[in-house]
Amino acid sequence: MKVFYRCHFSDRPFSPEFAYSLPWGSENGKCGVCKGTGTIEEPHRSTCHSCGGAGGEDCHCEEGTAIYYQEVPCRYCKGIGKAVPLRGYSCCRTPEGLSNYFFLRGGMHDSAPVVIFTGEEIGTGPDGEPLVIPALFPRPRWITWGEMQDILVRRGKEGKP
Ligand SMILES: [Zn+2]
Ligand SMILES: [Zn+2]
Repeated sequence: MKVFYRCHFSDRPFSPEFAYSLPWGSENGKCGVCKGTGTIEEPHRSTCHSCGGAGGEDCHCEEGTAIYYQEVPCRYCKGIGKAVPLRGYSCCRTPEGLSNYFFLRGGMHDSAPVVIFTGEEIGTGPDGEPLVIPALFPRPRWITWGEMQDILVRRGKEGKP
């Protein structure tokens, strides 16, 4: 059975019916992925504009093709710019993954609640993280961020991956 880890602050119960997540960075009703603009820049590979596809050593492209960015409608809010809840809880597959996720986003305080749970993975969130509907049984286990860090430190000392 797959196990997932999530920092869960919601005032609503942790349960399948309330399992929705807003994309990271969503605030004041604005979509966090496109910052409320409704569009995102997406890379696509195309014939190099500089050399017209000829390639060669004089051009910085890759054998005649280069990566360009184009504006496309944000696929999380469908281009409306509003923060649309995604079905499933945004979470990580390992405590290391959860720790890194928040480390990259400014860290987390020691008393923050962390829930360890099983469930059905139904999609992928904007940051590549799993979106999961939690199972009612076995019951989720709650620890604090500080306790999770202690576990990671202990694992590190024992030399386990
Ligand atoms: Zn958006
Ligand atoms: Zn080129």
